Amino acid sequence: MNNIVAIVGRPNVGKSTFFNRLIQRREAIVDSVSGVTRDRNYGKSEWNGKEFSVIDTGGYIKGSDDIFEAEIRKQVELAIDEADAIVFLVDVEEGITPMDNEVAKLLRKVTKPVLLVVNKVDNAKREQDAFEFYNLGLGEYVTMSGMSGSGTGEVLDKIVEILPELPEVEEATEELPRFAVVGRPNAGKSSFINALIGEDRFVVTDIAGTTRDAIDTKYNRFGFEFNLVDTAGIRRKAKVKEDLEFYSVMRSVRAIEHSDVCILVIDATRGFEGQDQSIFWLAEKNRKGIVILVNKWDLVEKDTMTTVQYEKKIREEIAPFTDVPILFVSALTKQRLLKALETAVEVYENRKQRIATSKFNDTMLPIIEHNPPPAIKGKYIKIKYCMQLPTPVPQFVFFANLPQYIKDPYKRYVENKLREIYNFEGVPIEIYFRQK
Ligand code: GDP
Ligand code: GDP
Repeated sequence: MNNIVAIVGRPNVGKSTFFNRLIQRREAIVDSVSGVTRDRNYGKSEWNGKEFSVIDTGGYIKGSDDIFEAEIRKQVELAIDEADAIVFLVDVEEGITPMDNEVAKLLRKVTKPVLLVVNKVDNAKREQDAFEFYNLGLGEYVTMSGMSGSGTGEVLDKIVEILPELPEVEEATEELPRFAVVGRPNAGKSSFINALIGEDRFVVTDIAGTTRDAIDTKYNRFGFEFNLVDTAGIRRKAKVKEDLEFYSVMRSVRAIEHSDVCILVIDATRGFEGQDQSIFWLAEKNRKGIVILVNKWDLVEKDTMTTVQYEKKIREEIAPFTDVPILFVSALTKQRLLKALETAVEVYENRKQRIATSKFNDTMLPIIEHNPPPAIKGKYIKIKYCMQLPTPVPQFVFFANLPQYIKDPYKRYVENKLREIYNFEGVPIEIYFRQK
């Protein structure tokens, strides 16, 4: 589980420029695998061997010039609640603005670590101009030019320095699946959980999670033992009324990162929308198992909207990762709740499975031989050996003489074949081609 760093600040100070720089190296790796960029506001970064998640809070508001101050204020408040550390970006070109003062006022009250970063310090003169930011009352600041990259190393040093020490993950003495129930506000998450587990009667133990905010609660229902990941924040706070993407994403990040399988609850009467998609890709990006529950199915006119049509539409939205179970449920009438739980357990098992190397070669090599990667510039590409890596998340490596010539379509072909033969339903997998 990672620390979460939120980048806050008013529009145009350079948040997204800096964010992109932070996640660049890792994203490059991910993108070469999936071929698609997903969420441009959430990513993972690494510095000096420490990994952390980054959220660009500004990325969730569109039309940056006419945002209400109140909106930014809410974002900062939520970032303060949900993140482990806050990077407050200001702009030396503009100097201190009233909005900067507002944000500083909120941040001065915070006990979580805050790093003040003066951006756009592109030259030595601006280094002098930065002095005025002492007036924000947040103490020391660091300067950088997010655009050229100068000073960003020092900023990263500081970020890593202020991140709270994460307690050792109590590697579950007994291996129980960790499920996170996620989704937009009002999709029916709490109703689903209540319908499934009732009035806390089935609580076995309450284990404090790995950070102060993540709680695993162990349950035993219908013969299945599992942990539900909840964030204390969700329980503690008044229900969020606003239906902003930012809220559901921010609130889901920690639970998703902490889980094995995400149960994504969507509202059947609204369909699979932008927010649902963001949360889906958040789970996929974290390589978590996924089950989609189309909830409130009791409200849908069945003759106008069949499950087949509905399912097809969702699969179009989540392509190319379509090998995901989709169930039509109702938390209200308790329709198919047991099936939902069963499916989540199955996805957990799928994600955990390990394929013996000899069997894997015996199965995959003939398929590859039958349909090898296309030759490039007269060179034949040969794959001689393959294996599943001993990683917690399914990863497969195929050793080839010229791996650099194997393109994405072939990778997808291999993934599809692999999914046809083995059951990885609901599980993101990674495939690499490497030099033998
Ligand atoms: P955001 O709204 O806070 O996410 O800001 P952006 O990252 O979109 O940047 C706003 C503008 O400032 C863009 O035109 C960037 O090119 C520019 N910018 C970002 N970082 C720097 C920097 O270090 N120096 C200068 N001179 N411009 C920058
Ligand atoms: P959450 O914000 O995702 O936790 O959503 P809630 O569980 O609070 O549900 C939001 C609203 O939808 C409440 O009024 C629920 O009673 C209602 N609701 C939840 N599940 C269902 C369902 O399966 N069918 C119907 N008809 N209403 C539901």
